[in-house]
Amino acid sequence: MSNFPYQDRFAVHRRLPEEGADRSAVLEQLATMAAEEDAFWETGRCSGTMYCGDHEHYGFLNQAFGLFSHVNVLQRDMCPSATKFEAEIVAMVLDLLHGEAVEGTVPGGLVSSGGTGSIAHAVLAYREAGAARGITRPNLIKPETAHPAFDKACHLFGVELRRAPTDPVTTMVDVDWVDRHVDQQTVAVVGSACNYGYGTVDPIGELSELALAHGVGLHVDACLGGFILPFGQELGYDIPVFDFRLPGVTTISADTHKYGYALKGTSVLSFRDKALRNAQYFFLTDWSGGKYCSPGMEGSRSGGLLAATWASLVHLGREGFRRYARQIFDTSAAMQEVVRSHPALRILGSPTFLFSFTSDAFDVYHVNDFMRGRGWRFNGQQYPNALHMAVTRPQTQPGVAGAFAADLADAVEYAEAHSGEAPSSGAIYGGVAGGMTDEADAFIKAVMADMMDAQQEVPTEG
Ligand SMILES: *Cc1c(COP(=O)(O)O)cnc(C)c1O
Repeated sequence: MSNFPYQDRFAVHRRLPEEGADRSAVLEQLATMAAEEDAFWETGRCSGTMYCGDHEHYGFLNQAFGLFSHVNVLQRDMCPSATKFEAEIVAMVLDLLHGEAVEGTVPGGLVSSGGTGSIAHAVLAYREAGAARGITRPNLIKPETAHPAFDKACHLFGVELRRAPTDPVTTMVDVDWVDRHVDQQTVAVVGSACNYGYGTVDPIGELSELALAHGVGLHVDACLGGFILPFGQELGYDIPVFDFRLPGVTTISADTHKYGYALKGTSVLSFRDKALRNAQYFFLTDWSGGKYCSPGMEGSRSGGLLAATWASLVHLGREGFRRYARQIFDTSAAMQEVVRSHPALRILGSPTFLFSFTSDAFDVYHVNDFMRGRGWRFNGQQYPNALHMAVTRPQTQPGVAGAFAADLADAVEYAEAHSGEAPSSGAIYGGVAGGMTDEADAFIKAVMADMMDAQQEVPTEG
């Protein structure tokens, strides 16, 4: 697909226009682009990313956003509403994650800009609290399957990251390996509920005991599962406890902008002990511009995002979240049954609302190649090559699971017929055969850098 599908239809702005355009003309262009791009996922054939997919809900959130979008929540004297929104978002999330089970400390939280933001704030808090105890070379241990946001945060904050191996069949982290690699400089270990790749939940109960035994923190990454797994538990699905009911769990990230059905740009980081949150508060008391403090890494933040996030939670309520969770879990189970009906395909581990499948008979990217032609968009994985489908509300529309069954049957036939060839999408997303060499690593990084460059460029003139 071209990076510039609009260049022939709409003016390309290479400099600030001298005369401004009419609002109606600007909005018309925006509406055209939005409608065409929405049509892509409205079919229900796109994994993840559009968690709600309900334009009435988006319209409601946008109304809430619009009332406060111009407000900077750093200036609390001007917007006490922001305190109501933020405190109540944190309180509702602590309630969902069983903060009432906490004894001996006062739980707290903060609203960040997304999953990466929540994870980064957690890593920073662990580093700062560790430093106060004399830890000078902090390290953190994550299962290999945990999100790259941990690698990014450790890179940014000078924390050593130790990647624990996971079982190739169950996808579960090797808890003994984690146990052996905790040392005096370990600030925290990580588990996912559930992980992004496979939709499987790490043995958080065992990690909780391990964390308590060693006196280290345990971050549970529920960025993806935080707003849906608790309702799956209520509905009786087999989902282990992963929240503050486990005494070793010290922080949990849960993304409101995923299954919280809020607007993009928010997530909640919850703490068993708000003293840990406060360890990363920032102060500059002697600046000529005035005394400065901020509760997290961001400076100015929009009141609109807090208002819209609050509105999503309050509007849906437990009943709304439970209803959507039931539809999503039922659809995911039906789609997993379809995958299991093909002996050539294999689901990895015991997944939940998100599942991933590979093939031992052919390169599963042949399935991807075919399904792309039918409008499906999966996330591509490697080691082993696999395709993941995060089931969201758009897939719960009538007919989508049935179309998945029909298209997948044709895709498996196609893959079997082409198993001797190299799949076209595998070159981009699949693992490097024989493992990653330094040359392959450098080449792939160069291709990725070119891609990111191109995403910030206007089309060349002429
Ligand atoms: C999405 C996700 C993240 C990162 O969140 P962003 O919102 O993309 O920054 C972290 N962990 C898991 C499990 C996720 O699904």
